[in-house]
Amino acid sequence: MKLHDILIVGAGLAGMRAAIAAPPDLDVAVISKVHPVRSHSVAAQGGINAALGANDSWEAHAFDTTKGGLYLGDQDAIEAMCREAPDDILELERLGVIFSRNEQGHIAQRPFGGAGFPRTCYAADRTGHAILHAMYEQLLKRRIAVYEEWYVTSLIMEGGACQGVVAWDLIHGGVHAIGAKAVILATGGSGRVFLTSTNAVINTGDGMALAYRASAQLADMEFVQFHPTTLKGTSILITEGARGEGGYLLNTRGERFMKTYAPQQMELATRSTVSLAIGQEILEGRGVDGCVLLDLRHLGRQRILERLPQIRELAIEFAGLDPIETPIPVRPGAHYQMGGVRTNQWTETGIAGLYAAGECACVSVHGANRLGGNSLLETIVFGRRAGIRAAEYARALVPQPLTTDQLAIEQRRVQRLLTQEGPIRAWQLREELGQLMSLNLGLVRTHESMSAALSALAALNLRAAAVTVQDKGQVFNSELVQAFELQCLLDVAETIVTSALAREESRGAHYRSDFPVRDDQHWLKHSLIQRAPEGPALTYEPVTITRFPPK
Ligand SMILES: Cc1cc2nc3c(=O)[nH]c(=O)nc-3n(C[C@H](O)[C@H](O)[C@H](O)COP(=O)(O)OP(=O)(O)OC[C@H]3O[C@@H](n4cnc5c(N)ncnc54)[C@H](O)[C@@H]3O)c2cc1C
Repeated sequence: MKLHDILIVGAGLAGMRAAIAAPPDLDVAVISKVHPVRSHSVAAQGGINAALGANDSWEAHAFDTTKGGLYLGDQDAIEAMCREAPDDILELERLGVIFSRNEQGHIAQRPFGGAGFPRTCYAADRTGHAILHAMYEQLLKRRIAVYEEWYVTSLIMEGGACQGVVAWDLIHGGVHAIGAKAVILATGGSGRVFLTSTNAVINTGDGMALAYRASAQLADMEFVQFHPTTLKGTSILITEGARGEGGYLLNTRGERFMKTYAPQQMELATRSTVSLAIGQEILEGRGVDGCVLLDLRHLGRQRILERLPQIRELAIEFAGLDPIETPIPVRPGAHYQMGGVRTNQWTETGIAGLYAAGECACVSVHGANRLGGNSLLETIVFGRRAGIRAAEYARALVPQPLTTDQLAIEQRRVQRLLTQEGPIRAWQLREELGQLMSLNLGLVRTHESMSAALSALAALNLRAAAVTVQDKGQVFNSELVQAFELQCLLDVAETIVTSALAREESRGAHYRSDFPVRDDQHWLKHSLIQRAPEGPALTYEPVTITRFPPK
């Protein structure tokens, strides 16, 4: 069995940043189910936050982040992220990221929702693309090994510590064990738990599920962000940058309806506020064919071509309209998981040798609602921290020979999936799951809707045990991968529904019409969920408050 010092699961921004941060004398490897530059980070559009402006400060950034997250974020972690952000952006630039510039030649910054200052750095509306490609170049330059198109199916646990992974080789077939002194999970989000989602089809919450099965704690899983503006019919993201550049949201009467919901911040209120407002307009009959309109026409041709070229392309190709001349029909869609594998601000989970960073982790910097531009920042700051901390751990560890039979367990699982006969296919259950989650755990939740989801989930889990894989081949068996992913989606859904049902208040992205008010007295605390033999077990943990008392 191959043994690395550090094995990083995930080649998105968090994973590659971690790999680059680890000292070059260590044996570091990255493993990813897709080619690194196809990770979802590539799709990030609007930008990445840092207080670079002369009149801005990291403290102001930390305040906006705390307030935007409805005081559920841990303020020590938020402070670390906002304090380190400016240096990290300059470092990215040195590593080759080409940011858009202002007239003075400095890195340009645009306003984003919930921010008191224009502090979102960007590369037109393709920021993730620009950063991810620069990271990949650095990976190549450092000759860091990449297991490309390998799917991790489980963690190897030995004596309570994580010592590697078991993975399926997509290109050649076969299950293999890969040892590591330290493992960093950087597997991204779980948006595909929902049917209407801005996320790539690969965002199936695998890392969260792997950690959950290994008895790690997940935190705040009920907080799923719905992005206010996704393209009608496709759920493709239309960046907040479109509103940052000055776009309006209109209802069927042509009114800028945000004046009723957030008269000061208007279209740049926080995402949960804007999403709920759009939902309300549609519910009360002021929508346009199940959507509202995002109007960019007044920005003018030149500005749209220069600042929002990709948005224009997407609208032309997928909605058949040119935003220079016609408003874009948009509606909210599942976008981001604020919860994830619980870590401290050095990305350590409760399991020795296991670290987590990026969207799959919950540090927690976003609290109940993430500000746009803070997620890319989180991947960079905490990806770097994960690389540093895991290296310290790996250096000090003397590995013992493994006694676990995890490889044999996974081999039997694959064997069962490939030989089992029957009518149930993974894609069918995946679609049913998405529908049930979008219907019952969307923008507005109730006790009834969530209880219905919980029973439906139990029934889906039973059927999932009987899934058949019709493709019996070894090479690029994408149906087998779907079956693996389905189990992850189901596990993640279980944590979302269980945590959401228990939280009897409304805060940020978790809105309950039966408990419509935020309740700091009882609920200013993190939900922690852990798998126990009798099912998911919930406990709670206080929020770390340093300089901003809840208001
Ligand atoms: C359309 C869109 C636009 C966005 N725009 C912005 C923005 O402008 N600003 C902002 O701050 N945030 C934005 N976000 C959010 C942000 O892009 C993501 O949260 C962030 O990029 C996640 O990065 P990551 O490194 O954690 O994971 P990802 O980039 O998703 O990478 C996950 C990696 O894990 C690997 N992986 C997963 N499971 C397995 C497995 N089982 N085995 C092996 N490998 C596995 C994948 O192959 C992949 O390499 C956007 C998100 C979307 C969907």
